[in-house]
Amino acid sequence: MSEQLRIGVFVCECGLNIAGTVDCDALSEDAKTLKDVVCVIKNKYTCADPGQNEIKKAIGEYNLNRVVVASCTPKIHEPTFRQCVAEAGLNPYLFEMANIREHCSWVHPHDREKATEKARSLIRSAVSRARYLQSQEEATVPVTQSALVIGGGVAGMQAALEIADAGFPVYLVEKQPSLGGIMAALDKTYPTMDCSI
Ligand code: SF4
Repeated sequence: MSEQLRIGVFVCECGLNIAGTVDCDALSEDAKTLKDVVCVIKNKYTCADPGQNEIKKAIGEYNLNRVVVASCTPKIHEPTFRQCVAEAGLNPYLFEMANIREHCSWVHPHDREKATEKARSLIRSAVSRARYLQSQEEATVPVTQSALVIGGGVAGMQAALEIADAGFPVYLVEKQPSLGGIMAALDKTYPTMDCSI
């Protein structure tokens, strides 16, 4: 890789959600020792406007080309931070997250030392991953808004019905001459002992 890596690490306290258990100062100090890390900033609430503004400012000030946020699950805020770095001119896919809340403070609330150790490892992993990130361009492709369901058993029929109820055309394909799959062959079904069809 010819590009000179400049990684920024942002450690979030999430109020006491993280800082109440995990030693965020120790994490920040450790992150400063990592190769290619040129800036480490600790925030109380990284997803809030002041936290995001600090990320944007640091991208310009330190000429960052990778950003790692150590905070909560990517399920919640990965889109937030991708958008944030994009607004600062960085490709949104040059961003990586370490989950030190759900994976550390929340699940190890009574063991500060071990929770901190785990968070340190997660941040180190995220920084390592960040080194290999590459810019991505999002493509838009035309989509045919209809569905093909293969297999006319109970699951297939239910899936076809749900999709049709949502307003999309559905093509249901079944290799047997009748629908129902294995269920259709059952004489009685628990708990009513009715015939299955
Ligand atoms: S980024 Fe996540 S961990 Fe940090 S303050 Fe926001 S919700 Fe809490």
